[in-house]
Amino acid sequence: MPLYRDQAIVLRTQKLGEADRIATLLTRANGKVRAVAKGVRRTSSRFGARLEPFSHVDLQLATGRTLDVVTQAETMAPYGEAIATDYARYTAGTAMLETAERLVAEEMEPAVQQYLLLVGGLRVLASGERDPGLVLDSFLLRSLAISGYAPTFDACARCGEPGPHRSFSAGAGGMLCSSCRIPGTASPTPETVELLGALLTGDWSTAETIDPRFRKAASGIVAAYLQWHLERSLRSLVHVER
Ligand SMILES: [Zn+2]
Repeated sequence: MPLYRDQAIVLRTQKLGEADRIATLLTRANGKVRAVAKGVRRTSSRFGARLEPFSHVDLQLATGRTLDVVTQAETMAPYGEAIATDYARYTAGTAMLETAERLVAEEMEPAVQQYLLLVGGLRVLASGERDPGLVLDSFLLRSLAISGYAPTFDACARCGEPGPHRSFSAGAGGMLCSSCRIPGTASPTPETVELLGALLTGDWSTAETIDPRFRKAASGIVAAYLQWHLERSLRSLVHVER
């Protein structure tokens, strides 16, 4: 079997047979890869503990007929230890892994920007330097932007009228001016909109100076925006399979 090396974040693992696991990986060079890790559920396994969710690993894989096989695994950064011991970090990190798996839909299609964003996000999350909720929301907005769904938090999403504006619509792609406003839009406060814009661009010095009481409203907007796009992508996938 031909061998190849790659670096990866472990997104998810599932049991396979008596002693094996299937690991879903987001790799640097090959995008999403599902690979069999043989014997990793035995206590004598050489690399079992290295292939846990959140782990940043350097791998050697063998190309298989259906699934590739992990033949070597070296830990680059065991983010799982620092993330799993803190509830807020763990819930934020789990949502990051799930979103990365959903937004990188196709296997074996390079998604290097998504990979680098996830590595950077998990590193910050594990370090405990920043609020886990802000790390998550920034990751979600930037991950959606990489996927082609960048929201606008300044100019009107429909006509381009310079902001700031008062209405947000997930379906329209961001803020709407008073002329373009449609029924059912949210009306976030100016501070919430400023926070969202800072999280999208990774402007931490602005994001962290905005009063923390606006974080919950910003999270609600991010969740609604993510939900809207994931449901649409799911529907389009169902459509393709028919
Ligand atoms: Zn407008």
